[in-house]
Amino acid sequence: MKVKVIKGDITKLDCDAIVNAANTSLLGGGGVDGAIHRAAGRELLEECRTLNGCATGEAKITKGYRLPARYVIHTPGPIWRGGGYREAELLANSYKNCMDLAARHSCRSVAFPSISTGVYGYPAEQAAQIAWTALRKWAQAHREETPEEVLFVCFNDFVLEIYQKLLRQYGEQL
Ligand code: ADP
Repeated sequence: MKVKVIKGDITKLDCDAIVNAANTSLLGGGGVDGAIHRAAGRELLEECRTLNGCATGEAKITKGYRLPARYVIHTPGPIWRGGGYREAELLANSYKNCMDLAARHSCRSVAFPSISTGVYGYPAEQAAQIAWTALRKWAQAHREETPEEVLFVCFNDFVLEIYQKLLRQYGEQL
């Protein structure tokens, strides 16, 4: 599986699935969640209402509605509480469960935002390391499967530099 690091707005991406850093209600919020709901339109919220929320680290999939992306995979990442509350494990679960869902829906390309690092306060560098490791582990366990490409979509230069550093360190092949 190949990794790309880009700067931009995840709602604009024309890939099979984009990941939403949601909250456990799945009924919309601020940050990337708000942007996705605004761009997808009311029907996304209507479908989300039928899902009965989602536990932290789990994931649920909906259609993309007015987004260029075919699907939205919603995952509530952990709220950072200092690191002693299984935050790392829960964040890794979010990435893994999103990949499982993407594979089950035959997605070839999946775009991730930097889950938990906005309002949820997860230190961005630690979160990026966890994201990379979780995706590599997934790729190694699912060699012949789709998705074949993941994109890390960085909304600001700070996060972009962190991911570019990981890309230089580990290369684009997971
Ligand atoms: P969380 O509640 O999981 O912390 P946030 O949405 O507050 O989620 O932030 C997660 C990350 O998503 C942050 O790095 C934030 O800068 C980024 N972000 C916000 N809007 C967008 C967007 N439209 N596209 C991609 N990333 C975004």
